[in-house]
Amino acid sequence: EQKRNGRNGISIYDGKLQAEYLRQLRLKDRLIKAISEYKIQVYYQPIIDIETGKVCKFEALTRWFDEEEGYISPVIFIEIAEKYGLIGDLGKIVFDKACCDLAGMRQQGFTDICISINRSVREFSNCDQKYIYDIIERYNLPFDKIMIEITESAALDEGNNILELLSEFSQKGISIAIDDFGTGYSSMSAIIANKPNVIKIDRSFIIDIEHSVESQILVSLVMDMSRKLNLDVVAEGVESEAQVRILSKMGCHYIQGFYFSPAVEIEQAMRLLEQNEVCTIPAYV
Ligand code: C2E
Ligand code: MG
Ligand code: MG
Ligand code: MG
Repeated sequence: EQKRNGRNGISIYDGKLQAEYLRQLRLKDRLIKAISEYKIQVYYQPIIDIETGKVCKFEALTRWFDEEEGYISPVIFIEIAEKYGLIGDLGKIVFDKACCDLAGMRQQGFTDICISINRSVREFSNCDQKYIYDIIERYNLPFDKIMIEITESAALDEGNNILELLSEFSQKGISIAIDDFGTGYSSMSAIIANKPNVIKIDRSFIIDIEHSVESQILVSLVMDMSRKLNLDVVAEGVESEAQVRILSKMGCHYIQGFYFSPAVEIEQAMRLLEQNEVCTIPAYV
């Protein structure tokens, strides 16, 4: 009897898991279709230089609007893409579109702008990297206007020659950013070994920076380390004027977040540049 109850308990749980699993499978099939039809989009979120208030970079963020399910978060579909071996093809589309759009910006005269592109560990381990150089060259882009974002955990992932690849990228002139900094179980030495150019402080430390002493400590440690290692620091998820003020006091020169703009379509990104849209930076107190 007891066994049966136990079984029943498990079967309810199984039911939920199964529904979730079926949804994943359905999404996977739709994702395969979207990828093959090149329907995966790329949006651009501006990164602002606090000193000038101007856009200096855009982070490319992938977007998928499924005909049936509507908007699906990249957090969900990137995981599916990784699980089912689609991340290579997805990453190629994103890289190609982002480079194409950067070339468009350069044609309009915005030649200082950089593009920052996310890459997951799986893309490093399973995919041929050569297409990256091909695409950059095909669009005639300077390598130093391209930045690759990897998470801390990717930076720590040993055994699949990420370190080698990153140093190859660096030698070509591509910048490396450590994304979501502060959230991984990082060893400083492993992070530093990647010789990153940029550290992006995770949104979770910015969200409460006004009131949390812990977050303030983390940010100021990152600032100290970055000055010594000559790295740029970007604060992610900046939403308020008060956050900008405190970050700029702490010496953080680059901000990204809804305070200025979410990720937008290329047309809108271009408009921000053309209209010379400037982010209001509160004066120091
Ligand atoms: P991420 O690389 O850390 O990107 C920043 C995320 O924070 C983006 O979410 C962005 O929309 C969001 N964000 C930016 N400013 C704010 C803010 O002020 N407030 C709030 N609440 N959120 C803000 P998104 O676009 O949903 O992307 C989520 C994650 O999915 C990314 O985190 C990245 O890890 C992954 N991702 C997105 N695009 C790609 C891609 O092309 N390739 C890979 N491998 N991963 C990607
Ligand atoms: Mg990122
Ligand atoms: Mg991030
Ligand atoms: Mg993140």
